[in-house]
Amino acid sequence: MSHLPNSLEARDVAYQLHAYTDARRHEETGPLVIEKGEGIYVEDNSGKRYIEAMAGLWSVAVGFGEKRLVEAATRQMEKLPFYHTFSHKTHGPSVELAEKLVSMAPVPMSKVYFTNSGSEANDTALKLIWYRSNALGQPERKKIISRMRGYHGVTVATASLTGLPNNHRSFDLPLPRILHTTSPHYRTMKKDGEDEAAFAKRCAQDLEDLILAEGPETIAAFFAEPVMGAGGVIVPPEGYWEAVQPVLKKYGILFVADEVICGFGRTGEMFGTTTFNLEPDMITLSKAISSSYLPISALMVNEAVYGPVADESHKIGVWGHGYTASGHPVAAAVALENIKIIEERDLVGHVKAISPLFQKRLKDLAASPLVIETRGIGLIGAAELTHGAFLDKPGALGALANGAFHARGLISRNMGDSMAFCPPLIISEAQINDLFDLAEAGIEDVSKGL
Ligand code: PMP
Repeated sequence: MSHLPNSLEARDVAYQLHAYTDARRHEETGPLVIEKGEGIYVEDNSGKRYIEAMAGLWSVAVGFGEKRLVEAATRQMEKLPFYHTFSHKTHGPSVELAEKLVSMAPVPMSKVYFTNSGSEANDTALKLIWYRSNALGQPERKKIISRMRGYHGVTVATASLTGLPNNHRSFDLPLPRILHTTSPHYRTMKKDGEDEAAFAKRCAQDLEDLILAEGPETIAAFFAEPVMGAGGVIVPPEGYWEAVQPVLKKYGILFVADEVICGFGRTGEMFGTTTFNLEPDMITLSKAISSSYLPISALMVNEAVYGPVADESHKIGVWGHGYTASGHPVAAAVALENIKIIEERDLVGHVKAISPLFQKRLKDLAASPLVIETRGIGLIGAAELTHGAFLDKPGALGALANGAFHARGLISRNMGDSMAFCPPLIISEAQINDLFDLAEAGIEDVSKGL
């Protein structure tokens, strides 16, 4: 595609290296320029409107164009645009948000530590866990287990936690001391004759086998998303968490629930922890905490985690960790207003009420011979595509579907050949029908083109 010289498209190609993009291909295709957004819709610079079925990156919970968030940011900008939380300093928005998060936590939590992205929240969790092991006089307890196909970020440590090949290959990752156990995806990971219940138990057994092989005294923590997002929207089979959690307890291994996608209503409860009866020691939050209007994330820890860390910081004289923008006052003010909107409009109740339709329309996509499986819960789901001609080209069919969806005015995201759907929580029943009408038509377009 050729773009006019000096167009945004041409200048983008000239100056920007993009996240999660084939850079050489981008030089040829150029970008899609998104100019504005309202509700569940965004519009490109040619005036074409799309249903943003990914809520941006699983994140714009209250939809685009929410004026209350703009006003909250403006008010705080005018009063105190920046202050930090280093060395005993604080400010109103960070205190209020920390208090709010602890009060709404799905299991008893003691303290909140603010960061600016999901990656930073998980990276901080990992550093805090190592620091705590030293504080407890267990310097050998440093290994961390996450799961294949899990997604926890892209810093050096969190890309290591992430269990996806593209985050490791050519980066010389994962780091030593970070291990991966079986992904809870039944269709691809089951053994011959294993039903879902037996598979769930075996996942727990695989975890225990890994712990025993490495030495239980060397394992510090287990990181997991209640529902895997970027790994393909994988909802664990029934009985999975019931089998996995006792293994962690048995060996005194901390459980970090990565609620970066699930948090703030996505699964039909305020937190995925509640949906699946989890008992994490630490919870990481981002994305929907501010509907991504500004970057902010948080790590919540319980008292048993906080205590030794506090003692160690006292012994050394400092907890030597912090980001300039940790608890940024404007981002915190926006997050507070965003949570207020989620509560006032009962968006969690709304998700509960409309998710049966969302899940039904998602399941119906499987009527197409191209769709091998659909997966989902609440307002998150994926349809996995397959076709004989593409078996040796993983992701190619997904990329085709992405193009077909775009042409029809639907933004999804292909994770390999799985098409993800994770719309703003404010979506209406009529809009859910519009979304899946477009998805059905897009899949049909792909099918006809083969
Ligand atoms: N954890 C989960 C579950 C995520 O989905 C993501 C981002 N998709 C992250 C962590 C990393 O967040 P960020 O991109 O803000 O670093």
